[in-house]
Parts: sequence; structure tokens; C-alpha cells
Amino acid sequence: MYGTIRIERNPSCKTKPGQEENLGFGRHFTDHMFIMDYEEGQGWHDPRIIPYGPLSHDPAAMVFHYGQAVFEGLKAFRTDKEDIVLFRPDQNAKRLNRSCERLSMPALDEEFVVHAIQSLVRLDAEWVPRKEGSSLYIRPFVMATEAGLGVRASSRYSFIIIMSPVGAYYEEGLQPVNILVEGHFARAVQGGTGNAKVAGNYAASLNAQAVAKENNCAQVLWLDAIEKKYLEEVGSMNVFFKINGEVVTPSLSGSILEGITRKSIIHLLNEWGIPVKEQKIAIDDIVAAYENGTLEEAFGTGTAAVVSPIGSLLWQGKSMVINQGNIGELVQRLYDTITDIQFGRTSDTHNWLVSC
Ligand SMILES: *Cc1c(COP(=O)(O)O)cnc(C)c1O
Repeated sequence: MYGTIRIERNPSCKTKPGQEENLGFGRHFTDHMFIMDYEEGQGWHDPRIIPYGPLSHDPAAMVFHYGQAVFEGLKAFRTDKEDIVLFRPDQNAKRLNRSCERLSMPALDEEFVVHAIQSLVRLDAEWVPRKEGSSLYIRPFVMATEAGLGVRASSRYSFIIIMSPVGAYYEEGLQPVNILVEGHFARAVQGGTGNAKVAGNYAASLNAQAVAKENNCAQVLWLDAIEKKYLEEVGSMNVFFKINGEVVTPSLSGSILEGITRKSIIHLLNEWGIPVKEQKIAIDDIVAAYENGTLEEAFGTGTAAVVSPIGSLLWQGKSMVINQGNIGELVQRLYDTITDIQFGRTSDTHNWLVSC
């Protein structure tokens, strides 16, 4: 599509973190990165894999001033048979284009994006960790690079992919977390950028995150920006509830990010014959279910953790403990099923895996 990927090998590869080292999240980076440039008139060109290292940009580069930056997040897993696989990378490529479109950034060929990811993973394959539950986190992103201070769409961009070996999100198995229902700050609004993976969305979420921490909560549960009534997401995860045997998740309202984990979970629940509905969910509905004893489970979903059980919700100074703070049966089943597919422990009947 954009020509063959030129490879410039790193002459001084780093020492990889040891098998037993706690990798954390996004602290170590592999030996190489992928870059491709865009220029108006010329389009995307010069795809290359080069040694990982600092980028040099003009201080007037538009990304620093007007925030044209979008990203993706996915993982490569090492299976027991030593194959390296990606989980639904086509979906990430598609969403990257939707995000680019929202910020008036140029589209990328989706098959080429997957090909670029595969090429980089293959070259840095030794960086895909072997420890139980660990994986290689892949971060593709696009940013505006034209120098200039006029507010308009940049005429130049870079598409970059970097990668980081990450530990199991839950070193000790799933752990329920406390969540603060956020009644003041908003993450996103209809017509805004909440349904795109736009860098600025995460900057805008940081002070609410700090308030959550002060309240001994791991994350916030966002309400809609207008009525402060309907549930949206939990931190940067989608959210699900099991109420009276039925699963519900907020419908895509225009301000919710459409997670690939969310989509996969809805697919599995349908397959298992467990009723699942996408609908508007008011915080009052959750309070009512809690009070009448039908709120059985609550959990967040996203690439980093797969699922994250919610142990309690703090709303208007009152803590609602869910499932006595224990891990629910459904959230555990979803976690086991998805990670078994990712690590090749069960057959991939949905064709969600793509090898590198
Ligand atoms: C990335 C993200 C998610 C989860 O998406 P996945 O594709 O499942 O990783 C959910 N909400 C927000 C705001 C996100 O940025």
C-alpha cells in the first residue's frame, strides 16, 4: 500500500527486563518503533521501523498547541505453543480511523496498520514476555507535526507504533475495586470527542481521577454531562451490570468509547444465552437495584485488564457494596474465557486472533 517497510535495526539493543521482574504498565519499551509520515498532496509515505528513541519536533508543531492526537491500545500474547498472536487488531485499525476522522486527520489503510503492527512485533518478538498473564502492549498513535500557530487542520502527521512488555494486570488474580460515582466533572459530551480515542479526553479526566484517589477509590464512574443522571463509563473502561440475572451496559450514546472488549463480551453473552441489553442506565436504577437486592455484579471492561470487578460504588457519600465485595461468577467466567482465547488455551472459534 504505502511501499515496503524499511527496517533499520537497532545496533545497541537494550537488556530486557528479567523474567521475575514486576513489569508494571508502560514502563519498559522495546528496541524498535514504527514510523510513517503524511504530507498533504503526497499522502502517507516512507513506512519504516527504526531504533526506539526520542523524536525531534518544531516547538510550533500543531500537536503541542491544538491537540490533534489520537491513539489505540492492543496486546500481543505468547501462547503455550510459542505462537505470538494479536487480539482483534482489525478492530483497533478501524477505530483508529474513526478517531482520525473526528479530529480531521487523514485516514490510514486498515490492512496496512495491522501489517505494520505485525512487522514490528515480529522484529521485537523476544520482547513478548513469557511470564503467566503477561503480554506486549502495543500503542499506535497519530499526531499533527506541521509547524504553525493558526488554528486549522495540520498538513503533516506522523503515525507511530511503540510497544511495552506489561505484567498481568492482576498479579494475584482478579481484585474488586472501589469506584466513585462522579457527580461534578464530565468526561465527554454528545457531539464532543468521547467516542474517539483522542489524547485530550484523558487529560480532561485527570482531576476527577485525583478526587477518586482521595476517596480511596481506584476510578470514577462517569455520568452523562448534561443531566448527570445516566451512566457512561468507568475510568477508561466500559461498564456492565448484572441485575436480576440480566446483563446491562450503557448504549453507545455518542459520548461513550466503543470498546473492543465490550463488543467481545456482548458477543460471548449472546452466545451463552445470557440476556444482555444495551440501554440508557440511570444511577437511580442502580441505587434501586442495590436497595432491593437485585444488583448482583458490576464490572469494567477494557484491553488493559480485560475485566475489572467493582467491589463498591460511592455515590453521594454512601457506599454500595456489590456482591459483598467478592468477585462475581459472571465476571470470572468472562475473564477466564477471554484470557484462555488470548493465550491459546482454548480454540479461537470466533477468529479473533491474528498471528504475527
Ligand atoms: C480504550 C477505552 C476503552 C476500552 O476499549 P477496549 O477496546 O476494550 O480496550 C473504554 N473506554 C475508554 C474511554 C477508552 O479509552
